[in-house]
Amino acid sequence: MDTTSILPPSLLAERLESLAYLYHRADAAVAAFTEASGISCPFGCGSCCEGFVPDILPLEASYVAVYLAAADPGRAYSLVANGLEPRVYEDGRVGCPLYADDTPYHCTVYEARPLICRMFAFSAVRDKRGVPVFSACKLATSGSGVRSATGTELLDSFGVEPPLMADMGTELASIDPDSAGERKALPEALLEALSRVLFLVGMRDDDPLGGGPTIRPTMPRAG
Ligand code: SF4
Repeated sequence: MDTTSILPPSLLAERLESLAYLYHRADAAVAAFTEASGISCPFGCGSCCEGFVPDILPLEASYVAVYLAAADPGRAYSLVANGLEPRVYEDGRVGCPLYADDTPYHCTVYEARPLICRMFAFSAVRDKRGVPVFSACKLATSGSGVRSATGTELLDSFGVEPPLMADMGTELASIDPDSAGERKALPEALLEALSRVLFLVGMRDDDPLGGGPTIRPTMPRAG
């Protein structure tokens, strides 16, 4: 995503460039792990997003907001006007509102999805002793049949070590240390970010979104 295409020169634009580079490296590490290990999600599976609403940092929310504003400004303005709530399923699960049933990857902001969405099923965590541990999702397939490993077994078991979520998370927090403690659920974080981003875009001399469409909030029906 080219953040400079719609944002004016700003600290936010610089930080989003750094975040894009971090996402690029996270994607590359995940791709190397999935290719070597044969660990993969079943085709079309979206169960992570159906029972999960990620907590994300303001910078990650801004990345999604810039993506939405550039790719689908009508949707961006509509979300600001009408709000965004987690998706509640009939069976009681509460999922991400950016999920769509009928798209190949299900995520409607796939290119801009947050770090946890990129790494969730393909990264290791540290146990209480600080040792890296990987366990495949119960729905995932494994090319070698190995589904979990710890510490020094990881390389032998999978051919390459899975990326560590905590290490990437630390790098993420270091891009904007002042907001590193401000994680919020995606719907709330994204609405705040959209307001910030659309305001900044409007500050550009050429205002690429033309001030946005005239959208009124949906009014509740009387009675
Ligand atoms: S942002 Fe996309 S990948 Fe992440 S939980 Fe929502 S729908 Fe899933």
